[in-house]
Order: sequence, then structure tokens, then C-alpha cells
Amino acid sequence: MGSQVFIGVGSNLGNRRVYYQKALDLMADLSQTAILRCSSLYETEPIGEAQNWYLNGVVELETALSPQQLLSCLQKIESALGRKRTKKWASRTIDLDILLFDKQMVNEEQLQIPHPEMHRRRFVLVPLSELAPQFVHPLLGSTVAELLAGLADDKQVLHFG
Ligand code: ADP
Ligand code: MG
Repeated sequence: MGSQVFIGVGSNLGNRRVYYQKALDLMADLSQTAILRCSSLYETEPIGEAQNWYLNGVVELETALSPQQLLSCLQKIESALGRKRTKKWASRTIDLDILLFDKQMVNEEQLQIPHPEMHRRRFVLVPLSELAPQFVHPLLGSTVAELLAGLADDKQVLHFG
């Protein structure tokens, strides 16, 4: 039995739906890793200066990789899909963030789990609550559904048809 992991997936450059699907295909190909479930897709208002709206969703994985190994694999997928690392919040073909990794907490320079912004972001909590509304955030002690209900983020998150 591997670890239960939730990945936040986002794209706001080029053919977003194609990048999103390719990212799923490449995650499915990772060793010691399986995709268990995928949320619906959402079209979401960007944070930061003027840029395209995002497609966002969440994917549940089971993996025997460590958090650090998984991060490295996800960064290779981002690079393979043409992700350029520029400034924070810059537009990107694909963004893959580790939101939750079992009940584990990681606080390293290159990796923080739970993802430090996840509980403040509607575009994360809406799709995550489809898959795991009762999952308890290991640092905050609240469920995903509770975090969503108490959220102040007023950015729009629209079901993507
Ligand atoms: P963001 O996702 O915040 O827009 P990036 O995707 O450019 O920013 O990632 C910046 C850095 O965030 C990465 O180099 C990575 O080391 C770090 N990072 C820290 N915690 C995580 C996490 N849980 N998932 C993914 N990346 C993370
Ligand atoms: Mg990221």
C-alpha cells in the first residue's frame, strides 16, 4: 500500500485542456504510482497581474515514492510540458503542486506539505472537496469541507463544461 496524495493541477497558457490531459497521462506513467481519481475541471480567475484564466483540478494518487521523489517527478513533467520558471505567479503551461501527502508534514526549503497556500485557495478547495471533503488538514485540524465553508477567497471558480 502506498501513500494517498492529492495533486493540484493548473494550466493557463496555450491549449489548457491538452496540457492538463498530458500531465495526467505522464503522472499515470510514473513508477510506483497510480491515479485513483480526478476531480472535475474548473475555470478560475488568476491571482496576480493580468493573465489568462486557469483550468484547475485535483488528482488523487497512490504512490510508493517519497514526497521528495514525487516532487522531483512532477517537476520533470512540468519541464517536459514546456513550463518555464520565471517569476512567482507567472503564466504557465502546467503547474503541479503536492497538496496533501497522507497525514505527513514536510517543512523543507524546497518542499512544504501540506501546500502552504492550499487552505486559502478556492480553486484548490473546490475540486479537492469533490474527492476528499472529510480529509483533515494535518496542521489546521479542519476538514477540507470546513476550510471551504470558512473561506474568504472571493476569486471566481466556475465549473468547466
Ligand atoms: P507556485 O506553484 O507557487 O506558483 P512554482 O510552481 O513555481 O510556484 O513552485 C515554486 C517552488 O515551490 C518549487 O520550486 C518547489 O520547490 C516549491 N514547493 C514547495 N512546496 C511545494 C509543494 N507542496 N508542491 C510543489 N512545489 C512546492
Ligand atoms: Mg507549483
